[in-house]
Order: sequence, then C-alpha cells, then structure tokens
Amino acid sequence: MAFNNRIKIKHLLETDSVGERVTVMGWVRTRRSNKHVTFIALNDGSCIQNYQIVADPAKIDDDTLKKANTGACLKITGAVVASQGAGQSSEIQADLVEILGEADPDKFPIQPKKHSLEFLRENAHLRIRTNTFGAIFRIRHHLAFAVHQYFHQKGFFYLHSPIITASDAEGAGETFQVTALDLKNPPRDQNNNIDFREDFFERATNLTVSGQLEGELAALALSEIYTFGPTFRAENSNTTRHLAEFWMIEPEMAFYDAEDNQNLAEDFLKYIIGFALENCQEDLAFLDKRAAEEEKNKKAEQRSELGLLERLELVTKNTFERITYSEALEILKNSKPNKKKKFAYPIEDWGTDLQSEHERFLVEKHFKKPVIITDYPKSIKSFYMKQNEDGKTVAAMDILFPGIGEIIGGSQREERLDKLTERMQELDISQEEMWWYLDTRRFGTTPHSGFGLGFERLVQFVTGMGNIRDVIPFPRTPGNAEF
Ligand code: ATP
Ligand code: MN
Repeated sequence: MAFNNRIKIKHLLETDSVGERVTVMGWVRTRRSNKHVTFIALNDGSCIQNYQIVADPAKIDDDTLKKANTGACLKITGAVVASQGAGQSSEIQADLVEILGEADPDKFPIQPKKHSLEFLRENAHLRIRTNTFGAIFRIRHHLAFAVHQYFHQKGFFYLHSPIITASDAEGAGETFQVTALDLKNPPRDQNNNIDFREDFFERATNLTVSGQLEGELAALALSEIYTFGPTFRAENSNTTRHLAEFWMIEPEMAFYDAEDNQNLAEDFLKYIIGFALENCQEDLAFLDKRAAEEEKNKKAEQRSELGLLERLELVTKNTFERITYSEALEILKNSKPNKKKKFAYPIEDWGTDLQSEHERFLVEKHFKKPVIITDYPKSIKSFYMKQNEDGKTVAAMDILFPGIGEIIGGSQREERLDKLTERMQELDISQEEMWWYLDTRRFGTTPHSGFGLGFERLVQFVTGMGNIRDVIPFPRTPGNAEF
C-alpha cells in the first residue's frame, strides 16, 4: 500500500468534508492540553492556515501526545467534524496519531513566537516552516508560474541561455570564474599568466551575468523569446537589493521598438502582480498585516503612506508615468530635497547617473506611481543600446517601483552594424571575440528590443519584504553560502 493517502489542509479548508474520515500529515505548530483534551495546530505548507486536531487522551496514548511537540511531524487520521471554536469551520477528531518525526522541544530553534529576520536567516534551513516564509515562497512560486503563463499565452518561447559563458555580457559587474584547472598548480603561459587554453573549455569562462546576448540571437530567429534563469554577479555590494546569485527574466523581441518594449514591460508587470493579487489572497493578507506592523517601528519620515496591498494596486490600476532622463533631471533639479540639499548626491550636470534616492523621490513623492525613464545619456549605458538621433542619448528604459527603485532595465538594441562597431571601438570591446553577436547585424538584422527583470526585486515588491535575502530560499551574498 502506498504511504501517501493524505488530504492537504488547503483542500480540507476549501471543501466541506464534515463526516468524512481523512488522513492529514504535517508539522506541529502548537499544542495545548488540559486533562480532557489536547489541541494540535498542524501545518502542512499547502496554505498559511493551520488545521486544528482534537485528540482525546482516552483514545490516543499519553506517550504519543507528549511527543507531538512544536516542530514534530505527524500523521493523523480521524473524522472531520464541525468545529465549535471560532476561525475554522471544521476540525479533525483524531483516532490515530503517528509520530513520523520527533523534534526535541529544547533544541528546535523555531519556537511559536516572533523571531527576528536576522535569526531566521541564520536558520534558513528551518525558516521555511514559519508563516512569513511559507507565504513568501508560495507567492514566489505563483509569480514564477505567472511569468511562464504570460509569455506562453503571448506566443513567446522559453529559451535556456547558457549558465557558463566566455563573455562578460555587458562588463556589468565582476564575474565568478569557472575552471577545472588544478588551482594548486595551474598551467602557465610564457608570461607566467594562468593558461586557460589548457582549461576544460580551452578558454577562460565564467558564470553568466545576463542571458541577453544569447537571447538576442534567438529573437532574431524565433521572433519573441524570454529567458528565466539564474545570474551571478561577484559584486561586493552589501545592500538590501543585491544578491550574488539571482534570477532574471529577459524577454527579447524582434520587430519591437522602444515604445513597443515599454508597452510590453508595463503590461507584463501588471499581469504578474495581478495574478498574485488574485491567486495569493491569504498569503498577501498575512504579509499586508505584517508590513503594517513593521511600519509602526519605523521613523515617521520613512513610513510608507500606502499599505502593501495598496502598493500592489497602485501598479495594476495606474498607467505608468513615462518621462525622459532629461525631464527627470529637471524635476529633480527643482525638487525640494535638492534645493534644501537633502540628497546625499546633489543633482549635478546632465550626464550623471541617477542614484536610488533620486529614483525613489520620483516614484514615491513626485509621481506616486511607477515611472519609466527613457533616453539616458549613452555614456552611462551599455554598448548595445540603440543610439538616438541626437547623438547624445540611447533608447534605454529603466522602470522604477516604489520602495524598490529600479526593477527593470532594458532598451531597444542597436541593430545597425556600423553604429554598433563604432561604439564597441570607443569602449574598447573586442569585436573579434564578439563575432557571433555581430553576425546577427550582418545577416538579416532588424529593429529589436528587450529588458531584464530581477525576479527577486519583483518578489520583494509583492511580498513587501525589505531585504532581498528574505525572498530567495537560500541567499548568496558576500560571506554567505552556508545552506
Ligand atoms: P542596479 O543598478 O540596481 O545594481 P543594474 O543596473 O546592475 O541594477 P541590470 O544589469 O540592468 O541592473 O540588470 C537587470 C535587472 O536585474 C535590474 O533591473 C534588477 O532588477 C536586477 N538586478 C541587478 N543586479 C542585481 C543583484 N545583484 N541582485 C538582484 N537583482 C539584481
Ligand atoms: Mn548593478
């Protein structure tokens, strides 16, 4: 006989099962006892709610009930009966309780009380058993599913771009090297440098920082593709918005100009956030309350004017503001915080990059909705972005979200071979090494565009979590790769 004949708690709560005899399995959250009865709150991760189990000491032996501590794993069989207590319509009157896995109450780190996020990060292997992290990772799943569903419905193809590459896509950040050489005794060339020609791939390789360049190759064959994979950046930025390993979604489309690109990005964000609002109501309601509690601990000027659910609806119900970099700079120059010298980086001449304090001012104070900034100075953007007629700007776009800042970076790509190689020359990027990329411009080039969405920044926005380390199961950051 198969072992798993259980019913999920989510199913029990959603369907009227009173009168049935069922088996549930899960982990004990709390146990309360008196002489006559023991109550166990069981959670199986299928949803945020616990299910109440009622155990009569006359039917279930004392030894078993004593082992049903917080953290223990149980298999329970019994009749579903209408519940007398508030908050839940039914409960199980147990007639069989089996301890699948004990948990020593003196040693189990996750107690039925509020733990700090820092403590839980140090116990990342067990934090998934808390309400907060259960909610986050169920929502993360739904968002990933919605990404695939959105693109599939639109006829985009999911492209698996390589994880090991020889190119540092944009020179964007430091890369992690990949090697099979013996580090104690690596082969050397004439100049005593490590000779990667003797390495596994016969060249130096690294973990990818972006799948975009390969995505472009595919878009110029399949028309519309997206990648959704892990990316790696060895940047030593200890911020609440950076990970060394994060997931990125990169659609790339032939026959799209900058405006088509903006339209797609806005529609896409509204769809996936709308999907979460519709399909993750209980988890979001829990996190909404949690976020409201957190707000109370903040200083007045740092408090967000909107609750979590209101922020999500701000995105789904508003048209994003679209302004150029030059317009943004004017707004910032004339803004109160700039005039009162409140910005750590005062707004200077045209051409300097915007800092996250500027981005947040535009989104949270000035427009109070998501903002798409376009047409950045070419000097602060990547070589592959399409050069505008003015000779100064490129057809880039950044999408800024409240609380997060940049959530998407993208552009129309430079499809003209001469313009592209000119820019590569200026930036000292090797055309020889990038011959395969330039071939797309040599053979059947066409206007095309794309963008990158940092998946964890999206999960952060939807769950309201302040630190990106709390929205990926096992975060990789400088000094952290324990689990
Ligand atoms: P930032 O200025 O915030 O470091 P970036 O300009 O380096 O971002 P891109 O290279 O354009 O970002 O990458 C595309 C998207 O990937 C960003 O819009 C962001 O959502 C996300 N992203 C970039 N770096 C990280 C990181 N270290 N951890 C998590 N997400 C990231
Ligand atoms: Mn960066």
